Amino acid sequence: MSKIILGIESTAHTAAVGIITSEGEILSNQRSMYIPKEGGIHPREAARHHSDNFPLLFKRALEEASLVPLDIDLVSYARGPGLGPCLRTGATSARAFAYMHKIPLIGVNHCVAHLEIGLLEGATDPVLLYLSGANTQVIAYASEKYRVFGETIDIGIGNGLDKFAREAGMGFPGGPKIEKLARGPELLNLPYSVKGMDMAFSGLMTAAKAKLDSGCSIETVTYSLQETAFAMSCEVAERALAHTEKNELVLGGGVACNERLREMATTMAEERGVKCFIPPKELCVDNGVMIGWLGYQMINADYQITEEDNQVHQKYRTDMVEVTWR
Ligand code: AMP
Ligand code: MG
Repeated sequence: MSKIILGIESTAHTAAVGIITSEGEILSNQRSMYIPKEGGIHPREAARHHSDNFPLLFKRALEEASLVPLDIDLVSYARGPGLGPCLRTGATSARAFAYMHKIPLIGVNHCVAHLEIGLLEGATDPVLLYLSGANTQVIAYASEKYRVFGETIDIGIGNGLDKFAREAGMGFPGGPKIEKLARGPELLNLPYSVKGMDMAFSGLMTAAKAKLDSGCSIETVTYSLQETAFAMSCEVAERALAHTEKNELVLGGGVACNERLREMATTMAEERGVKCFIPPKELCVDNGVMIGWLGYQMINADYQITEEDNQVHQKYRTDMVEVTWR
Protein backbone atom coordinates (compact mmCIF):
# COMPACT_ATOMS: atom_id res chain seq x y z
CA MET A 1 0.00 0.00 0.00
CA SER A 2 1.20 3.47 -0.79
CA LYS A 3 2.83 5.33 2.10
CA ILE A 4 3.06 9.07 2.64
CA ILE A 5 6.30 10.52 3.98
CA LEU A 6 6.87 14.02 5.37
CA GLY A 7 10.47 15.26 5.16
CA ILE A 8 12.01 18.08 7.17
CA GLU A 9 15.15 19.96 6.15
CA SER A 10 17.00 22.53 8.29
CA THR A 11 20.74 21.87 7.93
CA ALA A 12 21.75 25.41 6.86
CA HIS A 13 19.96 28.42 5.37
CA THR A 14 16.77 26.65 4.28
CA ALA A 15 13.85 25.45 6.39
CA ALA A 16 11.70 23.09 4.35
CA VAL A 17 8.85 20.62 4.62
CA GLY A 18 8.15 18.25 1.74
CA ILE A 19 5.63 15.46 1.26
CA ILE A 20 6.23 12.52 -1.07
CA THR A 21 4.57 9.14 -1.60
CA SER A 22 6.39 5.80 -1.55
CA GLU A 23 5.92 5.76 -5.36
CA GLY A 24 7.85 9.01 -5.68
CA GLU A 25 4.91 11.32 -6.32
CA ILE A 26 5.68 14.76 -4.90
CA LEU A 27 2.66 16.17 -3.08
CA SER A 28 4.27 19.30 -1.67
CA ASN A 29 7.64 21.07 -1.55
CA GLN A 30 7.53 24.08 0.80
CA ARG A 31 10.72 26.05 1.43
CA SER A 32 11.78 29.21 3.23
CA MET A 33 15.32 30.54 2.96
CA TYR A 34 17.12 32.64 5.55
CA ILE A 35 18.87 35.56 3.84
CA PRO A 36 21.35 37.43 6.08
CA LYS A 37 21.12 41.24 5.95
CA GLU A 38 24.91 41.34 5.70
CA GLY A 39 27.82 38.90 5.90
CA GLY A 40 27.51 35.11 5.83
CA ILE A 41 25.01 32.80 7.55
CA HIS A 42 24.81 33.37 11.31
CA PRO A 43 23.82 29.93 12.69
CA ARG A 44 21.69 31.28 15.54
CA GLU A 45 19.90 33.80 13.32
CA ALA A 46 19.25 31.08 10.75
CA ALA A 47 17.87 28.80 13.48
CA ARG A 48 15.56 31.58 14.62
CA HIS A 49 14.33 32.01 11.07
CA HIS A 50 13.66 28.26 10.91
CA SER A 51 11.72 28.08 14.18
CA ASP A 52 9.68 31.13 13.13
CA ASN A 53 8.85 29.54 9.79
CA PHE A 54 8.32 25.84 10.51
CA PRO A 55 4.70 26.16 11.78
CA LEU A 56 3.67 27.84 8.51
CA LEU A 57 5.71 25.42 6.38
CA PHE A 58 3.98 22.39 7.97
CA LYS A 59 0.58 24.04 7.47
CA ARG A 60 1.25 24.96 3.84
CA ALA A 61 2.68 21.52 3.01
CA LEU A 62 -0.35 19.69 4.41
CA GLU A 63 -2.72 22.12 2.69
CA GLU A 64 -0.94 21.82 -0.66
CA ALA A 65 -1.07 18.01 -0.41
CA SER A 66 -4.71 18.11 0.83
CA LEU A 67 -3.76 15.95 3.80
CA VAL A 68 -4.16 16.00 7.57
CA PRO A 69 -1.36 14.94 9.96
CA LEU A 70 -2.92 11.52 10.51
CA ASP A 71 -2.43 10.72 6.81
CA ILE A 72 1.36 10.82 7.27
CA ASP A 73 3.01 7.39 7.67
CA LEU A 74 6.59 8.46 8.37
CA VAL A 75 8.41 11.62 9.45
CA SER A 76 11.99 11.95 8.21
CA TYR A 77 14.39 14.75 9.17
CA ALA A 78 17.93 15.73 8.21
CA ARG A 79 20.07 14.89 11.23
CA GLY A 80 23.33 16.18 9.69
CA PRO A 81 25.77 17.34 8.56
CA GLY A 82 24.88 20.96 9.19
CA LEU A 83 24.91 23.94 11.55
CA GLY A 84 24.16 22.87 15.15
CA PRO A 85 21.43 25.38 16.04
CA CYS A 86 19.71 24.84 12.68
CA LEU A 87 19.81 21.04 12.99
CA ARG A 88 18.34 21.26 16.46
CA THR A 89 15.39 23.31 15.21
CA GLY A 90 14.54 20.78 12.48
CA ALA A 91 14.98 17.79 14.79
CA THR A 92 12.81 19.39 17.47
CA SER A 93 10.07 20.22 14.96
CA ALA A 94 10.21 16.68 13.56
CA ARG A 95 10.02 15.09 17.01
CA ALA A 96 7.21 17.38 18.16
CA PHE A 97 5.13 16.61 15.04
CA ALA A 98 5.83 12.87 15.17
CA TYR A 99 5.18 12.71 18.90
CA MET A 100 1.97 14.68 18.74
CA HIS A 101 0.50 12.59 15.94
CA LYS A 102 2.10 9.25 16.89
CA ILE A 103 4.02 8.85 13.64
CA PRO A 104 7.28 6.86 13.27
CA LEU A 105 10.36 9.05 12.96
CA ILE A 106 13.74 8.62 11.28
CA GLY A 107 16.82 10.86 11.01
CA VAL A 108 18.79 10.77 7.73
CA ASN A 109 22.00 12.09 6.18
CA HIS A 110 21.56 15.28 4.16
CA CYS A 111 24.27 14.53 1.56
CA VAL A 112 22.93 11.06 0.81
CA ALA A 113 19.46 12.63 0.36
CA HIS A 114 20.87 14.82 -2.45
CA LEU A 115 22.13 11.63 -4.08
CA GLU A 116 19.07 9.42 -3.58
CA ILE A 117 16.68 12.01 -5.03
CA GLY A 118 18.64 11.56 -8.27
CA LEU A 119 17.38 7.97 -8.36
CA LEU A 120 13.87 9.39 -8.81
CA GLU A 121 15.12 10.71 -12.17
CA GLY A 122 15.89 7.12 -13.19
CA ALA A 123 19.51 6.63 -12.11
CA THR A 124 20.24 3.30 -10.39
CA ASP A 125 23.91 3.32 -9.36
CA PRO A 126 25.36 6.76 -10.06
CA VAL A 127 28.34 8.90 -9.22
CA LEU A 128 26.99 12.07 -7.57
CA LEU A 129 28.55 15.44 -8.24
CA TYR A 130 27.26 17.24 -5.18
CA LEU A 131 27.84 20.98 -5.34
CA SER A 132 26.10 23.03 -2.70
CA GLY A 133 26.79 25.91 -0.33
CA ALA A 134 28.88 24.19 2.32
CA ASN A 135 29.45 20.81 0.64
CA THR A 136 31.43 19.94 -2.45
CA GLN A 137 31.87 16.21 -2.88
CA VAL A 138 31.93 13.41 -5.40
CA ILE A 139 30.13 10.44 -3.85
CA ALA A 140 29.39 6.92 -5.08
CA TYR A 141 28.29 3.58 -3.68
CA ALA A 142 31.13 1.07 -3.44
CA SER A 143 31.62 -2.03 -1.29
CA GLU A 144 28.28 -1.59 0.49
CA LYS A 145 28.76 2.01 1.52
CA TYR A 146 28.43 5.50 0.11
CA ARG A 147 32.00 6.72 -0.17
CA VAL A 148 33.47 10.15 -0.85
CA PHE A 149 35.82 9.88 -3.82
CA GLY A 150 36.84 13.51 -3.88
CA GLU A 151 35.94 16.73 -2.14
CA THR A 152 36.94 20.31 -1.47
CA ILE A 153 39.87 20.72 0.82
CA ASP A 154 38.90 24.26 1.79
CA ILE A 155 35.52 25.94 1.22
CA GLY A 156 32.38 24.61 -0.49
CA ILE A 157 31.97 25.84 -4.08
CA GLY A 158 28.63 27.58 -3.31
CA ASN A 159 30.01 29.37 -0.26
CA GLY A 160 32.97 30.43 -2.41
CA LEU A 161 30.67 31.88 -5.09
CA ASP A 162 28.62 33.59 -2.36
CA LYS A 163 31.77 35.07 -0.81
CA PHE A 164 32.97 36.44 -4.14
CA ALA A 165 29.53 37.89 -4.83
CA ARG A 166 29.32 39.45 -1.38
CA GLU A 167 32.73 41.10 -1.78
CA ALA A 168 31.71 42.32 -5.23
CA GLY A 169 28.60 43.88 -3.66
CA MET A 170 26.00 41.56 -5.21
CA GLY A 171 24.28 40.23 -2.06
CA PHE A 172 23.19 36.68 -1.18
CA PRO A 173 22.84 34.10 -2.64
CA GLY A 174 25.63 34.89 -5.08
CA GLY A 175 25.54 31.84 -7.37
CA PRO A 176 22.45 32.87 -9.37
CA LYS A 177 23.71 36.49 -9.66
CA ILE A 178 27.08 35.32 -10.96
CA GLU A 179 25.29 33.08 -13.48
CA LYS A 180 23.27 36.02 -14.84
CA LEU A 181 26.36 38.23 -15.25
CA ALA A 182 28.79 35.65 -16.69
CA ARG A 183 29.60 36.36 -20.33
CA GLY A 184 32.49 35.13 -22.48
CA PRO A 185 34.37 34.59 -24.62
CA GLU A 186 37.40 36.12 -22.86
CA LEU A 187 38.72 33.56 -20.34
CA LEU A 188 41.02 34.88 -17.62
CA ASN A 189 43.81 32.74 -16.28
CA LEU A 190 42.64 31.79 -12.74
CA PRO A 191 44.06 29.14 -10.33
CA TYR A 192 42.79 25.69 -11.36
CA SER A 193 43.29 23.60 -8.20
CA VAL A 194 42.65 19.88 -8.58
CA LYS A 195 44.87 17.90 -6.23
CA GLY A 196 44.48 14.21 -6.89
CA MET A 197 40.74 13.71 -6.39
CA ASP A 198 40.30 16.85 -4.30
CA MET A 199 39.62 20.48 -5.19
CA ALA A 200 40.34 23.86 -3.62
CA PHE A 201 38.27 26.98 -4.26
CA SER A 202 39.55 29.57 -1.82
CA GLY A 203 42.49 30.81 -3.91
CA LEU A 204 40.29 30.87 -7.01
CA MET A 205 37.80 33.23 -5.34
CA THR A 206 40.57 35.53 -4.06
CA ALA A 207 42.19 35.63 -7.52
CA ALA A 208 38.83 36.40 -9.16
CA LYS A 209 38.27 39.31 -6.75
CA ALA A 210 41.81 40.58 -7.52
CA LYS A 211 41.02 40.49 -11.27
CA LEU A 212 37.87 42.50 -10.63
CA ASP A 213 39.79 45.04 -8.53
CA SER A 214 42.41 45.36 -11.28
CA GLY A 215 39.76 46.54 -13.73
CA CYS A 216 38.55 43.40 -15.56
CA SER A 217 34.84 43.53 -16.32
CA ILE A 218 32.42 41.74 -13.99
CA GLU A 219 31.07 39.79 -16.98
CA THR A 220 34.53 38.43 -17.83
CA VAL A 221 35.48 37.68 -14.21
CA THR A 222 32.23 35.83 -13.41
CA TYR A 223 32.48 33.90 -16.69
CA SER A 224 36.08 32.85 -15.95
CA LEU A 225 35.19 31.99 -12.36
CA GLN A 226 32.35 29.71 -13.45
CA GLU A 227 34.34 28.05 -16.23
CA THR A 228 37.26 27.29 -13.89
CA ALA A 229 35.27 26.11 -10.84
CA PHE A 230 32.90 23.94 -12.89
CA ALA A 231 35.69 22.43 -14.99
CA MET A 232 37.51 21.41 -11.79
CA SER A 233 34.34 19.79 -10.42
CA CYS A 234 33.58 17.95 -13.66
CA GLU A 235 37.18 16.70 -13.88
CA VAL A 236 36.98 15.05 -10.45
CA ALA A 237 33.55 13.58 -11.25
CA GLU A 238 34.94 12.16 -14.50
CA ARG A 239 37.84 10.55 -12.65
CA ALA A 240 35.43 8.96 -10.18
CA LEU A 241 33.38 7.62 -13.10
CA ALA A 242 36.54 6.14 -14.64
CA HIS A 243 37.67 4.63 -11.34
CA THR A 244 34.33 3.11 -10.33
CA GLU A 245 33.41 2.15 -13.92
CA LYS A 246 29.89 3.42 -13.27
CA ASN A 247 27.91 4.70 -16.21
CA GLU A 248 25.55 7.17 -14.55
CA LEU A 249 26.17 10.68 -13.27
CA VAL A 250 23.77 12.61 -11.01
CA LEU A 251 24.03 16.31 -10.20
CA GLY A 252 22.88 17.62 -6.82
CA GLY A 253 23.10 20.66 -4.54
CA GLY A 254 22.09 24.26 -5.11
CA VAL A 255 24.94 25.01 -7.53
CA ALA A 256 23.50 22.28 -9.79
CA CYS A 257 20.78 24.84 -10.68
CA ASN A 258 23.42 26.55 -12.83
CA GLU A 259 22.77 26.11 -16.58
CA ARG A 260 26.45 26.26 -17.54
CA LEU A 261 27.35 23.55 -15.02
CA ARG A 262 24.46 21.41 -16.31
CA GLU A 263 25.75 21.88 -19.86
CA MET A 264 29.37 21.03 -18.92
CA ALA A 265 28.39 17.91 -16.95
CA THR A 266 26.10 16.74 -19.77
CA THR A 267 28.89 17.21 -22.34
CA MET A 268 31.40 15.32 -20.19
CA ALA A 269 28.92 12.50 -19.65
CA GLU A 270 28.07 12.29 -23.36
CA GLU A 271 31.75 12.15 -24.32
CA ARG A 272 32.29 9.26 -21.87
CA GLY A 273 29.13 7.41 -22.96
CA VAL A 274 27.64 7.97 -19.50
CA LYS A 275 24.03 8.95 -18.78
CA CYS A 276 23.58 12.25 -16.94
CA PHE A 277 20.59 12.72 -14.62
CA ILE A 278 19.81 16.22 -13.41
CA PRO A 279 16.91 16.69 -10.99
CA PRO A 280 14.63 19.73 -11.45
CA LYS A 281 15.99 22.84 -9.74
CA GLU A 282 13.53 22.71 -6.86
CA LEU A 283 14.98 19.28 -5.96
CA CYS A 284 18.64 20.34 -6.39
CA VAL A 285 18.45 23.02 -3.70
CA ASP A 286 17.92 22.02 -0.07
CA ASN A 287 14.39 20.66 0.28
CA GLY A 288 12.21 18.43 2.44
CA VAL A 289 11.13 16.13 -0.41
CA MET A 290 14.58 14.53 -0.72
CA ILE A 291 14.74 14.05 3.08
CA GLY A 292 11.36 12.27 3.03
CA TRP A 293 12.38 10.14 0.05
CA LEU A 294 15.63 8.99 1.70
CA GLY A 295 13.79 8.21 4.96
CA TYR A 296 11.45 5.93 3.04
CA GLN A 297 14.32 4.24 1.18
CA MET A 298 16.04 3.51 4.48
CA ILE A 299 12.93 2.09 6.14
CA ASN A 300 12.23 0.07 3.03
CA ALA A 301 15.76 -1.36 3.14
CA ASP A 302 15.25 -2.52 6.75
CA TYR A 303 17.53 0.15 8.09
CA GLN A 304 18.16 -0.52 11.74
CA ILE A 305 17.63 2.58 13.80
CA THR A 306 20.83 3.52 15.64
CA GLU A 307 21.32 3.17 19.37
CA GLU A 308 21.73 6.93 19.58
CA ASP A 309 18.39 7.51 17.85
CA ASN A 310 16.80 4.97 20.15
CA GLN A 311 17.92 6.86 23.19
CA VAL A 312 16.56 10.11 21.83
CA HIS A 313 13.25 8.47 20.99
CA GLN A 314 12.92 6.86 24.36
CA LYS A 315 13.08 10.25 25.96
CA TYR A 316 10.10 11.37 23.95
CA ARG A 317 7.87 8.33 23.71
CA THR A 318 8.35 4.67 24.35
CA ASP A 319 6.20 3.54 21.44
CA MET A 320 8.58 5.11 18.91
CA VAL A 321 11.57 3.00 19.92
CA GLU A 322 11.27 1.01 16.73
CA VAL A 323 10.27 2.37 13.40
CA THR A 324 7.31 0.31 12.29
CA TRP A 325 4.36 1.08 10.08
CA ARG A 326 1.21 1.76 12.00
P1 AMP B 1 22.31 24.39 -1.13
O1 AMP B 1 23.24 24.58 0.03
O2 AMP B 1 22.42 23.02 -1.74
O3 AMP B 1 20.88 24.78 -0.88
O4 AMP B 1 22.81 25.41 -2.25
C1 AMP B 1 22.95 26.77 -1.99
C2 AMP B 1 24.07 27.31 -2.84
O5 AMP B 1 23.76 27.15 -4.23
C3 AMP B 1 24.37 28.77 -2.62
O6 AMP B 1 25.75 28.90 -2.38
C4 AMP B 1 23.97 29.44 -3.94
O7 AMP B 1 24.76 30.55 -4.28
C5 AMP B 1 24.17 28.31 -4.93
N1 AMP B 1 23.37 28.46 -6.14
C6 AMP B 1 22.01 28.51 -6.24
N2 AMP B 1 21.65 28.70 -7.52
C7 AMP B 1 22.80 28.78 -8.26
C8 AMP B 1 23.09 28.99 -9.64
N3 AMP B 1 22.13 29.17 -10.54
N4 AMP B 1 24.39 29.00 -10.02
C9 AMP B 1 25.39 28.81 -9.11
N5 AMP B 1 25.16 28.63 -7.80
C10 AMP B 1 23.89 28.61 -7.37
MG1 MG C 1 22.35 20.74 0.57
